[in-house]
Amino acid sequence: MNLLIMGLPGAGKGTQAEMIVSEYGVMHVSTGDMFREAMKDETEMGKQAKAFIDKGELVPDEVTNGIVKERLAKADIREKGVLLDGYPRTIEQAAALDEMMADLGLKLDVVLNIDVDPSILVERISGRFICRNCGATYHKLNKLPKVEGVCDVCGSRDFYQRADDNPETVATRIDINEKQSAPILTHYRELGLVKDVSGMGKIDEIKTSVKEILSAI
Ligand code: ADP
Ligand code: AMP
Repeated sequence: MNLLIMGLPGAGKGTQAEMIVSEYGVMHVSTGDMFREAMKDETEMGKQAKAFIDKGELVPDEVTNGIVKERLAKADIREKGVLLDGYPRTIEQAAALDEMMADLGLKLDVVLNIDVDPSILVERISGRFICRNCGATYHKLNKLPKVEGVCDVCGSRDFYQRADDNPETVATRIDINEKQSAPILTHYRELGLVKDVSGMGKIDEIKTSVKEILSAI
């Protein structure tokens, strides 16, 4: 199964992706995670991306398309399928993705669109914290680890908040993504691939809706 998960920053894509990956065994390809990894390793690409990410702007398409193309060509994607998270984010990236997938003989099965009222996003993003060891995502109010200070998934006690999850960049990120995502959704709706899921409920309720959709594919 090959799928995209779409939704504004903070909508809950990564949270639902964790469940989809563990249930369906697909490879999680998050461009945001790839950029954060590259920034941590201080690679050339990471340094280039940082300048945009720190301002809440999108990394240029040629850089983003390049890293996705390289990742999709790996054997595990063909064997297990892919869940793309945070990509495509511009209509040009969507066109590039269609071409890459056609070249690789991969078919897109579904586009999950996590639909939320933008007014909730600041609260979701400002409460987000992440396990530094395994990347599991939590929230200060909505999703605390079962044992305080200990990651449910890997037992680490080391958590961090994303540098770009600050009030200065959040508004820019939401604004840019709202504008850019509309034509992408239209494109995939025309292909009959979009399944809308309300992202306004509890995490577990949304997981149930996502599972219902995916089990029908
Ligand atoms: P995205 O990947 O779309 O940016 P995340 O999955 O990281 O979003 O979720 C953003 C924050 O909101 C995280 O702290 C997460 O724990 C929390 N969250 C995710 N889904 C929900 C939900 N349905 N209700 C409340 N909080 C949520
Ligand atoms: P995310 O983890 O998806 O919230 O992404 C974090 C940041 O990485 C975004 O605000 C962008 O600056 C950058 N980024 C992630 N994915 C893309 C993409 N597909 N195109 C351009 N920039 C991206």
